[in-house]
Amino acid sequence: MVSVMSKLKKTSIKVSDIAAQYWCERQMELNYLYGAKITKEIKKGKAIHEALEGEANVPIMLQPRSYADSIYKSMYTSYVSLSSLREKGKAREIQIYGSINGYKMVGRIDQLEIDKGDVLIVEDKTKANGRVPSDAQLSINKAQLLIYRKMLEDIAARSYGIENFNSAYQINKLVLSEEFMRQMEAIGVESRLREINAMASAFFKAYLDLGRLSDRVRIRYIDQSTHDEIGIYNFDYNKNEVNDIITYVLKYWNGECESRPVAEQEKWKCKFCAFFGKECKVYWPQKGLNVT
Ligand code: SF4
Repeated sequence: MVSVMSKLKKTSIKVSDIAAQYWCERQMELNYLYGAKITKEIKKGKAIHEALEGEANVPIMLQPRSYADSIYKSMYTSYVSLSSLREKGKAREIQIYGSINGYKMVGRIDQLEIDKGDVLIVEDKTKANGRVPSDAQLSINKAQLLIYRKMLEDIAARSYGIENFNSAYQINKLVLSEEFMRQMEAIGVESRLREINAMASAFFKAYLDLGRLSDRVRIRYIDQSTHDEIGIYNFDYNKNEVNDIITYVLKYWNGECESRPVAEQEKWKCKFCAFFGKECKVYWPQKGLNVT
């Protein structure tokens, strides 16, 4: 039987996939099978994230030419931000790797900041209508943050580290392009770090050096038009809740169930779905079901 990962042509699960499963697992699957639809709202949200990143991080002028170069750049950019987190008070767009029940996990944390001496995860979400988030939105965003928090804890507890990363991504076999090597020299990357294994070690060490993690996570909602803050929501980190999330989402990835459409009481979500009435007809009106 073809595994779900093969069917979706994936080698790792993104943390954002897990969040998407909480919105509609069927839609998450269809995005992989038919291609994600990039809406105006997604483009606006991306522009706000880029502006925030520009405020917090020094731009790293490296242009990858290969997979090895790309993975190096992600680690190097995150390493530079993590190394200055305590001094600057915040760091944005931090790459994170981990593993859940044998699945490779990858994500990009919007922001880490120092809060009362602890490292706090903050996720920025943009909203087109300027209204406070619904419970459905809060639950998907919260799931994403709790998984990030677990991944950070796994690195801090050394249950995921450089050895796991090397074996998952075969870092030892990757070679950086000559052009990329020239770029690293030109922007002054320390010579000891101009090699992918050394970079991976420095990247995980920077995580280990972060210090105590906050027991809370935070979501900040921003208005897409005005860029004003709509609201800030804090949630406690709870291991049982994370385990429940993992148990729920793995049913799909393990192939124990088909992708689940939204529940009857949440079929209003279908009105906003690009697949409604085309690739997905679960609540299509012709079947006698109304999405309003
Ligand atoms: S139409 Fe509704 S159930 Fe189907 S994928 Fe979209 S949101 Fe999910």
